[in-house]
Amino acid sequence: DHRPDRAEMQQHLEDLIHTHRHWTGQGNVATYIPELGKQQPDLLGISVCEADGSRWQAGDWQTPFTIQSISKVVTFVCVLLDNDYETLTKTISVAPTADGFNSIVNLETKNEHRPLNAMINSGAIASIALVKGDTMETKYRRILAMMQAMTGRETLQVNEAVYQSEKRTGDRNRALAFYMKSTGIIQGNVDELLDAYFKLCSVEVTCEDIAVMAAVLACDGRSPVTGKTLFDAKTARIVKAVMTTCGMYDGSGEFAVDVGMPGKSGVGGGIMAVSPRKMGIGVMGPALDPKGNSLGGWKLLQSLSRDWDLNIF
Ligand code: GLU
Repeated sequence: DHRPDRAEMQQHLEDLIHTHRHWTGQGNVATYIPELGKQQPDLLGISVCEADGSRWQAGDWQTPFTIQSISKVVTFVCVLLDNDYETLTKTISVAPTADGFNSIVNLETKNEHRPLNAMINSGAIASIALVKGDTMETKYRRILAMMQAMTGRETLQVNEAVYQSEKRTGDRNRALAFYMKSTGIIQGNVDELLDAYFKLCSVEVTCEDIAVMAAVLACDGRSPVTGKTLFDAKTARIVKAVMTTCGMYDGSGEFAVDVGMPGKSGVGGGIMAVSPRKMGIGVMGPALDPKGNSLGGWKLLQSLSRDWDLNIF
């Protein structure tokens, strides 16, 4: 364990932000959701939540951004809690993908029409439908409640402008969902299902929120902040395994080499990373690389992993 003394931790994070801020100039904010295109590209923030609940932060860690695909981790937790694992994998597998986050091709050609995994759009949309609840609205509420419990923040809210923007422009996600309905992977009202998906992606969080979420996974389902046990260790283990192989879209292999921690990114610029039993880390930087991962955030995690010896491999 190469973590510095507590007194030096803060300074270390500030130095990292200073060293890596320039990377934000090399990436681009997502524009396919028009509202995300309005984000300030040079933001960069980091938050660390240790297994005892202590927190360390630097840079723009208080600036809110939308959770986007990091919400898929929460949906995956809920769908695992609500379904028998063997049965679930008949609908959504745990296979990695070398295609982009919104890929449709594998739904037709391979894998018995199953979405490859719950970390890409098709898999997350199919997962929401399998969460307990009589209506799509109750399923959405259940996942939002888990997100609030994992961040320890009951005031988490949907950013209405981003939600409306996604809803207006989400035709690829509509295509994925209707295709999956046609093959029997999903049942129920597709428009309401997509609405739940768009809302979950549009929840506003900070680096601290996603660091605390990651810390819950680091602590096998127990929140080091509230002390509550939210799910069991087996669920945490499955989620971390799939994050490791699939959490960074088609950049997952490179992330495993560069950073070596279970991670999940979102096109809002956030990345959460889990250091098992030690800490959760949340970074944000809306300027993305071509695969949709925060460029500055990736570099921060790469340095932190090396400096604090966090690579699990
Ligand atoms: N709401 C985004 C979409 O579905 C999430 C994508 C992402 O963060 O990767 O397109």
